[in-house]
Amino acid sequence: MPEYPDLTVYLRALAPRVLEQPLEAIRVRGPALVRTAEPALAEAAGKRVLALRRLGKRLILVLEGDLFLVLHLMVAGRLHWRPRGAPVPGRVGLAAFDFPTGTLVLTEASPKKRAQLHLLRGAAALATLDRGGTEPLEATPEAFRAVVRRENHTLKRTLTDPRLFAAIGNAYSDEILHRARLSPVALSQKLGDTEVETLRRATVDVLTEWAERLTAEAGGAFPEKVTAFREAMAVHGRYRKPCPDCGAPVQRIAYADNETNYCPCVRRAEGCSPTARSPAFSSRTGPGRWRSSRRAAPPLGRRCQAAREARPRSSPTPKRGKSVHSPVGRSVPVGFPPPKGKGQGFAMGSVRQA
Ligand SMILES: [Zn+2]
Repeated sequence: MPEYPDLTVYLRALAPRVLEQPLEAIRVRGPALVRTAEPALAEAAGKRVLALRRLGKRLILVLEGDLFLVLHLMVAGRLHWRPRGAPVPGRVGLAAFDFPTGTLVLTEASPKKRAQLHLLRGAAALATLDRGGTEPLEATPEAFRAVVRRENHTLKRTLTDPRLFAAIGNAYSDEILHRARLSPVALSQKLGDTEVETLRRATVDVLTEWAERLTAEAGGAFPEKVTAFREAMAVHGRYRKPCPDCGAPVQRIAYADNETNYCPCVRRAEGCSPTARSPAFSSRTGPGRWRSSRRAAPPLGRRCQAAREARPRSSPTPKRGKSVHSPVGRSVPVGFPPPKGKGQGFAMGSVRQA
């Protein structure tokens, strides 16, 4: 699913092509694409594009007449810039938006057509699509901390929940957590101030760096290779490949049709990741049931080479349930979540506070 960096690059590429241009026509092929009936799509025809915006993961063309053309690409929706009047491609084509400068084509390379198009009139109507997520790049440290701690979730869920943070998805949350050296299953309300600030900085850095990198890669052309899997990513989509920081194989936690990738070197330098000891997470109550990969668990010693090397020789390996002193001066439990019997385990979703 296109996230902040991809959406930013789309907006940057669209600006010189459509700003101040009249939207001459909209050609829709996908029957499920348009989610609004009033105002009619025809009302957008001939209206100039006054501004381009993003609301969460939605792209917005602000049109004359207080109209907002709102596009959600969901997982597989992609935009393409073609010569004016280009046809809507068969099978994957959903719509075409004609401008004097060219045609913006929307495709969705998935049998499940989930992309959404809304035409709304007025800011109040637009606000109904706002999931409420904070823009992480605009949040002050205090605001960011408040959002992280508002609910007790795993950090993976906290980052990707559109009600908490805007425009972060599965790919960049993996990269952010790796950069922050925080476990995807660490609990948001258990983080100390220093760790939350580390998370905030990693979020800002990763999203900014990738937006700039993808902009540079596009080089002024329209971004045609928007994907969640990129060679330069540290851990996302890199299961079993070496972590760029410690060389340990990247791990995964799979759920439904998605997965989280992380390196066991996360969380703290002198101890192993809590996830490394117990890769089996599932929940009978959580919204996302997690299952570990059966092949994802080589012996702990091999998995956490960086941690082993960083630990003083005289210091015994901490036992699960005991506490160790973390680099940020807090005592943190080792080896959570505790492994449980088959079918039980750790909820990826909301977790009740102890
Ligand atoms: Zn690593």
